[in-house]
Amino acid sequence: MKYRKFGNTGVMVSALGFGCMRLPMIETDNGKVVNEELSVKIIRQAIDQGVNYFDSAYGYCGGKSEETLGKALKDGYREKVYVSTKVPTSRIKEKGDYRRFLEEQLRRLDAGPIDFYHFHYLTDNVWNDIVLKYDLLKEAIKAKEEGLIKHISFSFHDKPEVMMKIIDTGVFESVLCQYNLLDRANEEAIAYANRKGLGVVIMGPVGGGRLVAPSEVFKKIFGKESASTPELALRFVLGNPNVSCALSGMSDEKMVAENIKTADDSSPLSEEELARVANALDEIKSLADLYCTGCEYCLPCSQGINIPHLFRIMNYHKVYGLTSFAKGLYGRVGTSEKEGKKASECVECGACETKCPQNIEIRKQLKDVVSVFE
Ligand code: SF4
Ligand code: SF4
Repeated sequence: MKYRKFGNTGVMVSALGFGCMRLPMIETDNGKVVNEELSVKIIRQAIDQGVNYFDSAYGYCGGKSEETLGKALKDGYREKVYVSTKVPTSRIKEKGDYRRFLEEQLRRLDAGPIDFYHFHYLTDNVWNDIVLKYDLLKEAIKAKEEGLIKHISFSFHDKPEVMMKIIDTGVFESVLCQYNLLDRANEEAIAYANRKGLGVVIMGPVGGGRLVAPSEVFKKIFGKESASTPELALRFVLGNPNVSCALSGMSDEKMVAENIKTADDSSPLSEEELARVANALDEIKSLADLYCTGCEYCLPCSQGINIPHLFRIMNYHKVYGLTSFAKGLYGRVGTSEKEGKKASECVECGACETKCPQNIEIRKQLKDVVSVFE
């Protein structure tokens, strides 16, 4: 396993991190539950092969991810890894909630101090309306001083300039964000994070949270004899010197073995390969009849629909063939103000279309979104 410097934390992390959001599940009379035995086995398999960064969150796997990770770290495994988890920021309703969640998570993990404790899913709104409103940075600093957590981190889902603003508080030591071949929006912000001494962890290195992409897009780029999709995707992400670790949500032994091999073997994409990727992606994109630039001139929609967000999701399906990933994203639509309402909430007033510089038939396209995802 290759290891990388994790910002200024003094920690060396494995290039491949284990995302504990997709632990293996089994059907029971009470619905799906985590397959604890298999989960413990594959987590330990990854540790035995050198993976040392494990990322969980309060809500993953129906709230059982942390407990399962904690069980896997018994029998001498805890000392070999760094544990990352996340306070469910959006569920905080008062100042004391931060500490209440932290204490519950420490009990669930039962693995000593949490190495990297994230504010989960930071957006500009969450930052202002929850983190600043309830003075949670002070809570985090206090928890660190008391030794309950070792490093203060955040996971991020908004525009790059918002990430830089959060970094500028000087409180954070690492960031977890999206970055992949298909979505390079965070590239500058990642470089900024690295310059400021933060460790950078990437989720969804292939755009789907897994190193194994279902898409044909990479084959189109590199031809039949080329390296496999996961290899290219990981080589792209880890080829960025500002990235410390790429997370993969792994659910079985085969996936763990393959991803570890890929992370071990991978070398960065060459300049020429990168240029080919960029050209091919542009070409594929231009083939799409839905070319939304994300300018947001169409907003606000009176019904609260985040039009460019829905079109981005549609493009993952339509242009890149990442259908299951797109469905997962659409599943979140309607759960927060930022996600906006489902496409079926459109009342066809047409106000957005008069403002769109691309002359996109937004109403018609939203109907397509409904037919694919609802
Ligand atoms: S046409 Fe639909 S999406 Fe556009 S502004 Fe009206 S309600 Fe919103
Ligand atoms: S105005 Fe048009 S191009 Fe701009 S975000 Fe809205 S739909 Fe996309």
